[in-house]
Amino acid sequence: MTHNRRDFLKRAGLLAASGALIGANDCNSGKQNSQSNKGSKKMELTYKEYELKLKHVFTIAKNSRTTTPDMQVRIHYKGYTGYGEAAMPPYYPENPKSAKKFYEKLDLGQFKDPFQIEKILNYVDNVAEGNHFAKASIDIALHDLVGKLMDYPWYKIWGYDKTKTPSTSFTIGIDEPEMVKKKTEEAERFNVLKVKLGGGNDKEMINSVRSVAPEKPLYVDVNGGWKDKHKALDMVNWLEEQGIEFVEQPMPKDQIEDIAWLTQNSSLPIMADESVQRIQSVLDAYQVYDGINIKLMKCTGMREAHKMINLARSLNMKVLMGCMTATSCSISAAAQLAPAIDWADLDGNLLISNDPYEGVQVVDGKLVLPERPGIGIKPIKKI
Ligand code: MG
Repeated sequence: MTHNRRDFLKRAGLLAASGALIGANDCNSGKQNSQSNKGSKKMELTYKEYELKLKHVFTIAKNSRTTTPDMQVRIHYKGYTGYGEAAMPPYYPENPKSAKKFYEKLDLGQFKDPFQIEKILNYVDNVAEGNHFAKASIDIALHDLVGKLMDYPWYKIWGYDKTKTPSTSFTIGIDEPEMVKKKTEEAERFNVLKVKLGGGNDKEMINSVRSVAPEKPLYVDVNGGWKDKHKALDMVNWLEEQGIEFVEQPMPKDQIEDIAWLTQNSSLPIMADESVQRIQSVLDAYQVYDGINIKLMKCTGMREAHKMINLARSLNMKVLMGCMTATSCSISAAAQLAPAIDWADLDGNLLISNDPYEGVQVVDGKLVLPERPGIGIKPIKKI
């Protein structure tokens, strides 16, 4: 038997074994999945489209929907699997088709090992412009993989105190008063609620929530729904009387001077969301907003989010971490950074009915990080 033939038979045997162990349908639609996943000495990327089913119709200032398109990503290396995700709400420019096109351009097999995180993610970043969500999915899978190889969760690798995680808010979308009351009742186990405004019924929304939860701390997210700065300030003053803690993206992101004026005159912290994408925009938000909302999907993942937190802190800015509707994969990845932030809005996994993972938990309203390595998730059903 020649050496090559022996290698071939060995690989074929491993392939059969790995198929039996991980299931033939484990995320196998990627073109780089031509070899065995288990035991491969080169990183291999696989990916699969997944539709997130929402528990309730979700309405914000811009639209309503019942599902969210999503890509589930895996990086396989030496028998380990790193999990990643791109959750892609329809009001963003990316979708599963654009993500697949991006993944097809990647060759992770060229890197010696996954520990070269900076080198690998700089390469991923330079393969094509944009594609922040797709890039985030690779970043998350790589972090999960490296954490698993080191056998530590990322909060520990970064040196954070896991007891310092904040409570997560639970989001109440724009709706009719009866539905808002019902959702508020259902959210009883959360210490904080985030109420979506900007749909033309702002006071009705707050009054409906307050009728069920008179004392609960509330955050408000306007998604750029207010256009006039004087009316915006009147509303901020009214919201302060209602016990609101901060106002997120009160006006459209291009009304920079109006927002800076509002921030200067507001008694509540004014937070940037749509105005903030990657690290450069932290500097753009400085002295326009009091703080920033970081989302892994917008900023290309955990590596950049970690840098943005450090930069915002050095500028004395507040930090909120938010999310898309997503599985426990990207939510648990974001939660690894939660001990370093002021406020968390990491409820995206709780808004869906088909979460395939178990990860970060909400206990007495607070985010509780698992002890599992990497991003801390385990699959609980096949996708
Ligand atoms: Mg927001």
